[in-house]
Amino acid sequence: MVTVEGLTKEFPGGVRALDGLNLSIMDGEFFALLGPSGCGKTTLLRTIAGLESPTSGAVRIGDRDVTPLAPGARNVAMVFQDYALFPHMTVRENIAYPLKIKRQPRGEREARAGEIGGQLGLAGLMPRRPAELSGGQQQRVALARAVACRPSVFLFDEPLSNLDARLRLEARTFLKRLQRELAVTTVFVTHDQAEALALADRIAVMDAGQIRQIGTAREVFRRPSTTFVANFIGSTPMNLLSGEVRGDGIAVAGGTVPRPDGLSDGEPVTVGIRPEYLPVLTSAQHGALSGEVSIVEHLGTSSLVTVEIDGELVAGTVAEGDEPDTGTRVWLRPVPGRVLIYRVGDGTLVS
Ligand code: ATP
Repeated sequence: MVTVEGLTKEFPGGVRALDGLNLSIMDGEFFALLGPSGCGKTTLLRTIAGLESPTSGAVRIGDRDVTPLAPGARNVAMVFQDYALFPHMTVRENIAYPLKIKRQPRGEREARAGEIGGQLGLAGLMPRRPAELSGGQQQRVALARAVACRPSVFLFDEPLSNLDARLRLEARTFLKRLQRELAVTTVFVTHDQAEALALADRIAVMDAGQIRQIGTAREVFRRPSTTFVANFIGSTPMNLLSGEVRGDGIAVAGGTVPRPDGLSDGEPVTVGIRPEYLPVLTSAQHGALSGEVSIVEHLGTSSLVTVEIDGELVAGTVAEGDEPDTGTRVWLRPVPGRVLIYRVGDGTLVS
């Protein structure tokens, strides 16, 4: 278990990269850190690793307070975006290196490197140097090196970001299987939401050195707790529309959606609806949002349709082959139970 308590990191010049952050990662969990550039993800990972010392707060691994310990004494393994392999060493030497640092005898460490290399599909590549490997193979060597010293925590900083799209998908599946088999607590930093949603047991969405929401992929995707998280999560951004509480509904973009409890008449709200939950229809529907098709983008099995409603752009989806023509009038009918209502002031979720 990794616990972070009141962690603050200030860099010289007054940048507060972490701001009193609290976090508890369970034993064996695959935990992803997601957030915009500069929100403090890498700093948090490096502080857990011991590569940065916090200005205040503590890091615990299991029941040990590791805050004062050097990186080597924490039993964590970190894999970086650029793999940081030693160019002059062979694959075997690279994998065995952490064991050499731990002063294991040569025979033992070579045997262990061979065993792990075999598990990760590197058996035929052991005598090669990193420059003679593909990006995907280098990434596996970096993983093998991390696995070699049997760490109690894996820390991954965008380990897949240098791979092309196809290799990345393969590596993702591979990483998930490896983590399942080893059941090692893993903290994973990524820019890529699809990666976080696919890999992680839980996701933390960070902003400005703080955590805005923690939940399973499904929770964070389905019920973002603020408009910030709603805006950030999802491959196509969520529609965040201005609405107003009126009678027993909420008036939004010429249509009406159900009104949750806890709001007063006339109150302005933000209505959040993902394009995926806003099917585009070509005949009139009671209560539906309606406007003129402005852009159609083909995504593969579905298409994203941007509709202009009273000067506001609203995105909906339609099955591939059913796309309406631009300039035609369409109706967007929200999927029941998939409409989120946020307060205007602090952007928090009402329902
Ligand atoms: P990215 O996704 O772009 O890698 P990140 O979320 O990992 O970003 P960090 O690298 O943790 O963000 O940086 C957080 C903040 O701390 C940024 O404002 C960054 O400029 C600042 N920062 C990071 N390292 C240092 C440093 N060594 N000295 C000064 N400021 C730093």
